[in-house]
Amino acid sequence: MEEKFDAAIVGAGPAGISAACILAERGVKVIVLERGEYPGSKNMFGGVLYGRSLERIIPDFAQKNCPIERNIVESRLSYLSEESSISLTYRDQAFFEKLQNNAFTVGRAKFDRWFADQARARGALLVCSTVVTDLLRDGAGRVVGVKTDRADGDLRARVVLLADGVNSPLAAKTGFRPEVKPGNVALAVKELIGLPEEVIDERFGVSAGNGVTNEILGNVTLGMNGVAFLYTNRRSVSLGIGANLSDFARERVRPYEMIERLKLHPAISPLIKGGKPLEYLAHWLPEGGFATVPRLFGDGFLIAGDSAMLFNALHREGSNLAMASGRLAAETILEAMGKNDFSSRTLQSYGQRMEESFVLKDLKKYRRFPSFLETHRELFTNLPRGASAAIREILTVDETPKKTRRRAAFEAIRGRMTSLRLLRLIWDAWRSVR
Ligand SMILES: Cc1cc2nc3c(=O)[nH]c(=O)nc-3n(C[C@H](O)[C@H](O)[C@H](O)COP(=O)(O)OP(=O)(O)OC[C@H]3O[C@@H](n4cnc5c(N)ncnc54)[C@H](O)[C@@H]3O)c2cc1C
Repeated sequence: MEEKFDAAIVGAGPAGISAACILAERGVKVIVLERGEYPGSKNMFGGVLYGRSLERIIPDFAQKNCPIERNIVESRLSYLSEESSISLTYRDQAFFEKLQNNAFTVGRAKFDRWFADQARARGALLVCSTVVTDLLRDGAGRVVGVKTDRADGDLRARVVLLADGVNSPLAAKTGFRPEVKPGNVALAVKELIGLPEEVIDERFGVSAGNGVTNEILGNVTLGMNGVAFLYTNRRSVSLGIGANLSDFARERVRPYEMIERLKLHPAISPLIKGGKPLEYLAHWLPEGGFATVPRLFGDGFLIAGDSAMLFNALHREGSNLAMASGRLAAETILEAMGKNDFSSRTLQSYGQRMEESFVLKDLKKYRRFPSFLETHRELFTNLPRGASAAIREILTVDETPKKTRRRAAFEAIRGRMTSLRLLRLIWDAWRSVR
């Protein structure tokens, strides 16, 4: 590839395409290199996108055939023991009206293609089935392009945006960010389960086009630090579960065993009953939080999205962090083009933009959250059992005096956790999110 580009973007995920849209719209000569056969072919996620972040790249996306599955009107949080479920549900009329598409579900294969088409329509060049294998550097070590697995594979660019996701062989090879440690990523599996649209509407109590998300915690992850989810699409539901990669290695649990168990749980099985398995996917997600975010720029390059470990595990937000970081990287590239300087001196303003944005502010705020989960394993073992046994005591009506029931409820928790441990858990939980 003899041609020289202003910007080369590695990866056609939400981060890379967000940057491509903004750059192409401003007349920048930009190329996106994607290893998949088409954008989204290698990608999977739970399924929830956030409208406000997408709107900043594609205003009026909903009117532009964005492949929205369901507008999320209800969010559930469930805490599961082996036999029970404690749930908190929030439904709000605002999500049907003025906050419509605040959050909505999509399938990545359709969404990533549509998003890439928006970048193409603005003038970006997208080249698929192309793996970026290395970075090109000049004599001073500055990044001046990329190497690809094509025969004529070297491509020169004034700046390179690395938006190649969490599982980046390129990072390991070039060292643009430290190699990911198993303790800092989760392995998640997801099954797409087909159900008729009206069955989903009825089971989740929604009308056509509206949907529900359900985040699931407890001992469904068999004591490992992890989480599960169930999200509604138009004619399918996404059921997924994941846990820390080092936990999987230590416990020797197979991810597919975990999802099979989850499907049998009494709170889950009625929701997926009669469903047809359509797809089974697995992917990593960055979970190390703020401490694992690398330096976001260097001479001739920037890093965005999962590649920069930008994931807010507490709020299940990644796609919006990817889009926002892609947008801010593009704004920095435009500034660098104005100065005709792509050294880290100019590109460091990306770091400042990120510090001032919700992306790093949120990750910084929750910087203690990953270690909170890591150190409080009772969240995935004894606490759900204790909480369930306590509530069962309180709700059982058999002419036992309430005072006795309340004492038994208290003992149900205390038998599994000392009061000191419980107080420590509450204190650490508060500290991790304050
Ligand atoms: C199970 C699971 C559930 C999730 N649920 C949610 C959710 O509900 N909501 C949410 O907001 N986020 C969720 N996330 C996180 C979200 O998916 C990511 O944060 C987001 O996709 C990151 O976007 P990205 O563009 O940085 O990376 P990616 O989406 O990973 O895209 C990277 C792209 O780069 C390509 N690529 C990689 N290496 C190369 C190379 N060397 N050469 C060329 N191309 C390359 C890949 O093929 C891919 O297309 C979830 C993640 C997982 C795994």
